[in-house]
Amino acid sequence: MEQVVAPSAPSAIELPETESRLSNSFLRLRKHLMRKVGEAIVDYGMIEEGDVVMVCVSGGKDSFTLLSLLLALRERAPIDFRIVAMNLDQKQPGFPDHVLPAYFESIGVEYRIVTENTYKIVKDKIPEGKTTCSLCSRLRRGIIYRTAKEVGATKIALGHHRDDMIETLFLNMFFGGKMKAMPPKLVSDDRQNVVIRPLAYCSEKDIERFARGMEYPIIPCNLCGSQENAQRKQIKAMLRDWDSRFPGRIVSIATALKNVVPSHLADGELFDFRNVSRSTEVGEGDIVFDAPELPVGAGSTDIPIGIWRP
Ligand code: SF4
Repeated sequence: MEQVVAPSAPSAIELPETESRLSNSFLRLRKHLMRKVGEAIVDYGMIEEGDVVMVCVSGGKDSFTLLSLLLALRERAPIDFRIVAMNLDQKQPGFPDHVLPAYFESIGVEYRIVTENTYKIVKDKIPEGKTTCSLCSRLRRGIIYRTAKEVGATKIALGHHRDDMIETLFLNMFFGGKMKAMPPKLVSDDRQNVVIRPLAYCSEKDIERFARGMEYPIIPCNLCGSQENAQRKQIKAMLRDWDSRFPGRIVSIATALKNVVPSHLADGELFDFRNVSRSTEVGEGDIVFDAPELPVGAGSTDIPIGIWRP
């Protein structure tokens, strides 16, 4: 069952008039997050003139924040694009299905609610006690892709942030034997959808703080009864520990994702090691016998982005 609703009010985000949301520190945080989203959009060519961006909103802090920031950025963007908020009601027990429509109405954004009982499918198919997330996400992905086509979306925006990307990198390295993270922009296997992650440069800490200040009507993410993946939990704890003990380390890892040097890894598919000879160009300098020089405070991602910058 689907419900399509056109906006009933202008879709500008107004910060509610409370003290905390008008405080200088909150306004600075909001500006910082908007700048980071603007940078990511420009760096990866995420949104173009005439795009229809379907923003997937689960009811968690990340997707609420993504929607707010995209709406605010659209007000000052040099291009025109449409935003459609989308929520998939998976019929999990206790899912408060009135919350998101009411929120979307209150901010006047065009939205679509899709109701599909994937909860039942997952419960029927997966034996009790086994983890349900992979089937659940596969089903959800299919429905999101189909809905994107139906609304005429040219981009699907997801609320994954910088720390999700780093967690995925370590998950793949520790448990999958791969150096692979979560891309800021990708095309789906069937080539029908382009997925973007505009929060790619935003830290989870900042998003948490922003979402608290905005007092979003957060919907708990454990309604399905599934536990968070134990390995992801472990990685998250490791990264949080690093972040508190070694400030700057997480920023540096995020920067590293943008500075890959194939000739200094070991993947023969990325770099032709077999044919390395004395005439091979040395791109990154030869430090065979020396320790690499590490710049102090490495990790800045500040890049000029012109008028996308708030
Ligand atoms: S936590 Fe629940 S809703 Fe989320 S992917 Fe896993 S099974 Fe699906």
